[in-house]
Amino acid sequence: MKLFAKTEESTTKCKKCGLELHDEERLRRHEKVAHGRKIDAKCRNCGAGFRDPDDLRKHKKKCK
Ligand SMILES: [Zn+2]
Ligand SMILES: [Zn+2]
Repeated sequence: MKLFAKTEESTTKCKKCGLELHDEERLRRHEKVAHGRKIDAKCRNCGAGFRDPDDLRKHKKKCK
């Protein structure tokens, strides 16, 4: 017997601010608006993170 048959379990939480959203697409949109782009551009030389890959490119020229 399943007592917890609610379909509301698919809530996702923003890891950055804890805001609860009901679907992943909204969460992704929220993250973009509220927290900007992911910092996935990192300088291997000094470990500095950049939101904009172009900033990393500029930084790399100086950092060496
Ligand atoms: Zn958030
Ligand atoms: Zn660097």
